[in-house]
Amino acid sequence: MFAERLKSVEEEIRRACEKADRKREEVTLIAVSKTNPAEAVREAIEAGQLDFGENKAQEMVAKKAVCPDSARWHFIGNLQKNKVKYVVGNAVMIHSVSSIPLAAEIERIAAKKGLTVSVLAEVNIADEATKHGIGREEAVELVKAMGEMPHLHVEGLMCIAPPVEDPEENRPYFAAMRQLLNEINAMGLPGVQLHELSMGMSGDYAVAVEEGATFVRVGTALFGARNYPV
Ligand SMILES: *Cc1c(COP(=O)(O)O)cnc(C)c1O
Repeated sequence: MFAERLKSVEEEIRRACEKADRKREEVTLIAVSKTNPAEAVREAIEAGQLDFGENKAQEMVAKKAVCPDSARWHFIGNLQKNKVKYVVGNAVMIHSVSSIPLAAEIERIAAKKGLTVSVLAEVNIADEATKHGIGREEAVELVKAMGEMPHLHVEGLMCIAPPVEDPEENRPYFAAMRQLLNEINAMGLPGVQLHELSMGMSGDYAVAVEEGATFVRVGTALFGARNYPV
């Protein structure tokens, strides 16, 4: 049951906050509902969960349409330029901006709709060939470019850490994310003041919280195993 899983994830987040001397309110738990039906999202909302993560634009829009308006939708997936129109105005934040051309397309659609969009730059912090996201130097360039786009509000960085047996293996990557955020802030780029770190998934969110995550994106630990891997 969602409510029971939520309780144990909550407890683990609280423990991690205590350990790191952080306030629980500094961390937003995003329930990654991708591949789960709207019914599962409604059950989660009843249990008190309001932030949800989706990685497919049309799937997000379809669920949003049939779920209570109190839900907040975060876009966390690989976003194609022709799908940007579905996401702008529907997601409270786009976590996965990984190129300047994509950022420019989000800016274009947001300007057209008269909206401002909160965005994060997705960093391939472990330099994995299989992963989306960009290297640390490119991340600086992307953040700088987004800072100059009037309809984008660049708020921080996101990463997908490697799948590991022992979550401690990802601690250095999470620490590197925080360091990169601090480095970028110290550059004083116009329009740039980063304060969000979206990092940590079912296997390693506690370690991510200890290292400064402000968003953790938790799927299977809340909804159970997905029917197909995405
Ligand atoms: C699926 C997904 C998650 C959640 O993964 P779990 O291991 O099920 O917690 C988090 N972030 C992104 C970007 C995802 O695609």
